[in-house]
Amino acid sequence: MIRPIAASPPGAITLEIAGTAVGTEAEGPHRRFAVWVQGCTLACPGCCNPEMFVRGRGRTIEVPALNRAISEAAQTAGVEGITVLGGEPLQQLGAVAALCEAAAAAGLGVIVFTGHTLAEARGQVGFERLWACIDTLVDGRFDARQPDAARRFVGSRNQTLVHRTPRYADPSLWQGEPTVELVLTPGEPLRLVGAPALARRVVRSLRGGS
Ligand code: SF4
Repeated sequence: MIRPIAASPPGAITLEIAGTAVGTEAEGPHRRFAVWVQGCTLACPGCCNPEMFVRGRGRTIEVPALNRAISEAAQTAGVEGITVLGGEPLQQLGAVAALCEAAAAAGLGVIVFTGHTLAEARGQVGFERLWACIDTLVDGRFDARQPDAARRFVGSRNQTLVHRTPRYADPSLWQGEPTVELVLTPGEPLRLVGAPALARRVVRSLRGGS
């Protein structure tokens, strides 16, 4: 059962985000609230979100405000869980941990995409707090030479699904045709989200390429 996310005290921690999507089915199993964080220094060649590399170009939001929006989406839009991606979630570790902790405590599922391997992440101070509330971590750099055609939601074959809990461990949840969605969130630019290779093909064809 999904419960309302508990209120937090004022003076809350903030997160710089590039955008959000309410009720997306293109960023993990079921209907999700997706949060793209702003900022990534890993710069994988072929990354489909290079506009999210540089900090300071996103929108700063207090984590409790984001949690309220997630809670409302869970109550009204059938959202089953959150997906945090980017940008690089581990480069705003404290805020992402606070976000995911509140979501998990409310009964929502938590999926985090990171360019770090789990072993690298475990070397970061504070990661264990985040890890304790993640259901599935999708880890590893995106490698454009190894596009993943077999798993939905995952960019390249070298990336690993690490299921800390059984919530999303059924392989069938990650199989099927890749999907992309056009997302229009109030106050944010129109965004094409979902499988990177398919998204690139859609953009090319919209620009008149093949
Ligand atoms: S880690 Fe993710 S956001 Fe960062 S460059 Fe690689 S694919 Fe892009």
